[in-house]
Amino acid sequence: MEWQPNPGIPMRALLAGARRKLPGLLQVTQRLVAAESPSDVKAAVDGCVGLVAAHARALGGLVRLHRQREFGDVLEARFGPRSRVGAAGRVLLLGHLDTVWPVGTLKKMPCRLNEGRLWGPGTLDMKAGVAMALTALEMLTEAGSLDREVVLLLNSDEEVGSPVSRPITERLAGECGAVYVMEPAQGLACKTARKGTGDWRIEVHGVAAHAGVDFEKGASAIRELARVVETVSGWTDLKRGLTVSVGVAGGGTKTNVIPAEAWAAVDVRIARKADGPRMERRFAGLKAQDKRCSLTVTGGINRPPMERGRGTVRLYQRARSLAAELGFTLDEASTGGASDGNFTAALGVPTLDGLGAVGEGAHARHESVVVEHLAPRTALLAGLLAL
Ligand SMILES: [Zn+2]
Repeated sequence: MEWQPNPGIPMRALLAGARRKLPGLLQVTQRLVAAESPSDVKAAVDGCVGLVAAHARALGGLVRLHRQREFGDVLEARFGPRSRVGAAGRVLLLGHLDTVWPVGTLKKMPCRLNEGRLWGPGTLDMKAGVAMALTALEMLTEAGSLDREVVLLLNSDEEVGSPVSRPITERLAGECGAVYVMEPAQGLACKTARKGTGDWRIEVHGVAAHAGVDFEKGASAIRELARVVETVSGWTDLKRGLTVSVGVAGGGTKTNVIPAEAWAAVDVRIARKADGPRMERRFAGLKAQDKRCSLTVTGGINRPPMERGRGTVRLYQRARSLAAELGFTLDEASTGGASDGNFTAALGVPTLDGLGAVGEGAHARHESVVVEHLAPRTALLAGLLAL
């Protein structure tokens, strides 16, 4: 059975509540940013996870840590009545606590409020979004209007492709009727479609020889790689939303040696699910033109595309009408970047992404969040979570 939105949600009251909570929301964000959390330093990410776990417990959440060896622990916190309305009414609130910024970044890029923005590493992607989620849950809990179970899931490996959290995300999404992803907005829009991503590595093995003495005995791996690069780049089809980009390449040893080895790392983006197997077949079928060279091709699609399905459109329409009640227009957008929303949407669970902060500069020096949008979007999230 499908849940129906409650037409009586007092959006204006939620907005007033979110405005009152704004100083606290900013404080929580700053505390999370101060706990630097690069994906590859478990102890650092766990420090940040611990802060959120304590906060979630203080809000009455039932916290469970999925312990990890290599990456930071994955945090699951349940709020509201336990599944009173069944899976269709249960909601997954999805985010991550890891960032791309190494420990020590704060020294060069301090977290500060200036010109109506909160600046700092991980503010936009996506610690402000986590603080928004906690604030929305706090508002609903205090008002006694959290009438359904909300599962907050924050992982520690999103920025490196979610290798360990993916099965947890997929299992919990399967128990929910909707997924809201707290990744940053795209401009002012939320995200109803994302491209899928793939990574490949191509290694060419040729035959080394002296470039002057034995030229004809050599088989250049670099020359062969150049042909392969041209081939795979030609698979790009912008109309289909399919792109193939060789991002890094290398090879050879000395100028006077015919290179025996060369390699390339390839980024692939797909808008349609069907292009995944198609790309996998094409990469698997690559062959060297020079018979003396051989290829080793590894990789594959790691995140399926988040297609704009009917369930997602319904979530978006509801969000749009709630935003209108709050006095702003919520548009939808598609993006070439992937998130954990790709996994949940591919399972067929309606997924609305980009419900986090508005700002600029994710993964860049000018990473920042626009403060004036925090309260309205937190109120929107609270409205979406209220049954
Ligand atoms: Zn992110």
